[in-house]
Amino acid sequence: MTTIECPHCRSTLTLDKVGVHFQKFCSGLQVAGAERESSMKKFNRLYIHMQSHARGEITESELQAEADRIFPGR
Ligand SMILES: [Zn+2]
Repeated sequence: MTTIECPHCRSTLTLDKVGVHFQKFCSGLQVAGAERESSMKKFNRLYIHMQSHARGEITESELQAEADRIFPGR
């Protein structure tokens, strides 16, 4: 199964776990309020790329590159 590295805590995540990880379990994402909202918006952008990957349109390394681009600064 395809995995990506969490840009916040560097956990290796399968794609089906990324959303719930960002929402609840990420140890590198202990933020609240507007900052959290901003992070979820970024996640939604990443999710679009995850769907592209699921359709075989981009490679796993391209998906990781998008994750790094969407979530810079860690
Ligand atoms: Zn994380």
